[in-house]
Amino acid sequence: MKKITCKAAILGVLVLGCLEFKDYAYNGPAPTPSVEFKAREAFSEGFDPPLSGDTDTATGAADEGDWVPHTSIARSGPDGVNERCKLVLPSNEAAALYEIVVAANSTQLISVTPSAPSGVNINIRITSLADGAIVQKATIQARLTSDHTTVVAQLYVLLLPVRTTVQCKFYRVSNLNDNEFIENPTENPVASPGEATAEADSRMRQAVVSVSPAPPDPPVYGDFSKRTLGFDLDGNQKLSGDNEYQVFVNSGMFTGKCNVIYVSWLAEGYGGMVFDVESKLLFIAQNAWTFPGGGFSDDPEDGSSASSQMERLVAHEFGHYLKLCSRTINLGAGDPRRGHDDYPLPSGTATLMRGGDNGGGRFGRWMRHEDWVQANITAGVKTQ
Ligand SMILES: [Zn+2]
Repeated sequence: MKKITCKAAILGVLVLGCLEFKDYAYNGPAPTPSVEFKAREAFSEGFDPPLSGDTDTATGAADEGDWVPHTSIARSGPDGVNERCKLVLPSNEAAALYEIVVAANSTQLISVTPSAPSGVNINIRITSLADGAIVQKATIQARLTSDHTTVVAQLYVLLLPVRTTVQCKFYRVSNLNDNEFIENPTENPVASPGEATAEADSRMRQAVVSVSPAPPDPPVYGDFSKRTLGFDLDGNQKLSGDNEYQVFVNSGMFTGKCNVIYVSWLAEGYGGMVFDVESKLLFIAQNAWTFPGGGFSDDPEDGSSASSQMERLVAHEFGHYLKLCSRTINLGAGDPRRGHDDYPLPSGTATLMRGGDNGGGRFGRWMRHEDWVQANITAGVKTQ
């Protein structure tokens, strides 16, 4: 018995170390904690680990994103269960010292299992208890069983409302250098609506945003499915400049909640562009991209899920449609950082919103927790 007591005392010192860590982490760089919530996979969509010194506050000051991991969950439906996270303990013997609980202010929002850990990697299952239309933050804690009070690790859970599926209509010019548009293109040289929306959908699930192709409008002009739009005011065979963009806006032709428009070229060699993040128009320069595949077609995070550049690019432009990345979307219109995420990333991840001058074209799947919220809220507004 004495031996066991002695062992507990040694572990108790470890626990005190954890308490010191908590205070210390609030004031400076974080040491490696011994009790920690992590993603089950090496990288994980819907998991945003602590990233010391990477901050989203306006002043640049450290915030809780620097030391508390975040995960996301839908408030209802199939994604109202989260099985992406685990609690990591220093040893099998330590497991008895801890319990996994929902913080007192969050018990109406989520539940978590198991409550009594065993082993050193404890997969946890989080379930939403709260339907509804607002974003809320709940807290899961690892606490000491000795007093049921002392918190040694925390995980924030962002509850996101299920939004109406964003239906995207697709259009492309019928010949590469004219103004005539065909709805719902399914042939080369562009990414098909189904494959492009599937790409965006897979990346936005972590934000509880779903994407699907929309059926085309009934034909309203003489020709069965072609419409002519005289947007090329300067005759350079490119969509270039605000005057030409306004022709699209004023035409009334593009009626989807989201409209992906393949033009021949965009100004300055851009591959894709969103002129106005308040709009529902995304432009892709079909001549600027090879289709299918080639170039940066492999997933930079795990080498799998390879798809065409253009599908990945549509997903990236769809991110701009959702006002990502939230940290830079309000920068001035001429700022090349605008809408792009060129900040430090967790090891092994790549972000969907990397800028063209900083690894652009290798768009990954990882998103910051503040971008889950931004994407979810914007989708709610734009599908109304
Ligand atoms: Zn971009």
